[in-house]
Amino acid sequence: MNDVVISQSSSLHRLSSSFIVHPSSFPGSFILHRSNVLVSPPVAHPVSWQTVSDLFVVVWDDGHESYYPLETLRRACPCAACSGEPDLFGRMSKGPPPRYTPASFQLLSMTQIGNYALQPMWADGHGYGMWPYERLRRSAHVMSVED
Ligand SMILES: [Zn+2]
Repeated sequence: MNDVVISQSSSLHRLSSSFIVHPSSFPGSFILHRSNVLVSPPVAHPVSWQTVSDLFVVVWDDGHESYYPLETLRRACPCAACSGEPDLFGRMSKGPPPRYTPASFQLLSMTQIGNYALQPMWADGHGYGMWPYERLRRSAHVMSVED
């Protein structure tokens, strides 16, 4: 069990839990005890995406498919207005809670930003939320109905 091949991000979770991490002995660093190798998860990229009924479906380049309910995806919008963001003093600044209408959960389009993120445009005019691939993929574990 010393040779560990990391093929996708989910493998890292297994790796992290099976190795002993000592953050306190190495402040600020993340050392895997047995391998002494710094591992960063490879980021999967979406190769195609489409809306099917009330689901946003992503096919990833590692063959994985993720299904995001549109309403869940919108409610998890990562933009500053919806999620808040820390100000200069680390306090969370957040406006009033978002008001949703049925149009809030209709996806008009999904724009690819460079080669690192997808940005949804919702039918109520909201389109600030940007989903970096890594975050979108990671969110599939909590959002996806079939993952
Ligand atoms: Zn938002």
